[in-house]
Amino acid sequence: MKASIVDCEGLVHIYKAANLEVVALQGLDLEVAPGEMVAIAGRSGSGKTTLMNILAGLERPTAGVVRVAGNDLSRLSGSEQERYRRDVVGYVLQHAMGNLAPYLTAIENVQAATVTGTARGRSRAAASLLERLGLGARLSRRPGELAGHENQRLALATALANHPRLLLADEPTAELDTAAAAQLLGDLTTVLREEEAAAVIVTHDPQLETYVDRVVMIRDGRTSSERRWVEREGALIHDELAIMDRAGRIQLPRAYVDKLGLSGRVRLHLEGDRISILPATGDESA
Ligand code: ADP
Ligand code: MG
Repeated sequence: MKASIVDCEGLVHIYKAANLEVVALQGLDLEVAPGEMVAIAGRSGSGKTTLMNILAGLERPTAGVVRVAGNDLSRLSGSEQERYRRDVVGYVLQHAMGNLAPYLTAIENVQAATVTGTARGRSRAAASLLERLGLGARLSRRPGELAGHENQRLALATALANHPRLLLADEPTAELDTAAAAQLLGDLTTVLREEEAAAVIVTHDPQLETYVDRVVMIRDGRTSSERRWVEREGALIHDELAIMDRAGRIQLPRAYVDKLGLSGRVRLHLEGDRISILPATGDESA
């Protein structure tokens, strides 16, 4: 197997504000293969943006290991962190306008985000990237003169300007209608393939699933389950897998827990090639 581009193991992140502690991530594991497109889904407050900020090198985890393209992100010095942010990742913030300079045109925004090459080379590369993202006719518009989906596309172009190996996008389709979101994701997928870049994309949008290799669900700061399309006997099948972390912990789907009335202690039976989980009876369940 090829080395992963992203490898998170037991990530913990705690925000300390005044005398309050918020545990945003509590032992999250995640692996992403080079060139893979992974969607992250989960309720508001489940830790998605925190994970993205850590992968982007903007926040250091409180505990746990996070490696991206061989960089141990909890150990990077200030200047290494800067180099990492410039050369390895591209990040589209949850509020994409935060990626854009309002007084620059679309092409100037992308050029400003590009670090190498001559002025002419950068301008040509920026125009080509914007064209591939469907903004070929909008090169000299400013963000204030662009539609919502166009600004998302522009933010993606700035994040891709330095050919990152990993693109991070936090809810790029949140404010778009279904058709605009589908088009944006279709175009993005094509560009990511051309760039041979991996991507981690946060979304609430179930339709994203058709554009990504897998969807990872986060619950309470931990990866809980995973959905992917698998090919079986010539048909595409939607498969849902639970995630077991390295300590052997699994989060059961809420519906299963409710159905069997599980709480507290449960009984495990190993039967040949499978494990059953049974409600404990009487005194056991206390
Ligand atoms: P999501 O992106 O899934 O909505 P976040 O990662 O933004 O989740 O937040 C996870 C948890 O951490 C939430 O409880 C949120 O209130 C808290 N949180 C996020 N950012 C901060 C911060 N800067 N200071 C304190 N708490 C924060
Ligand atoms: Mg968020």
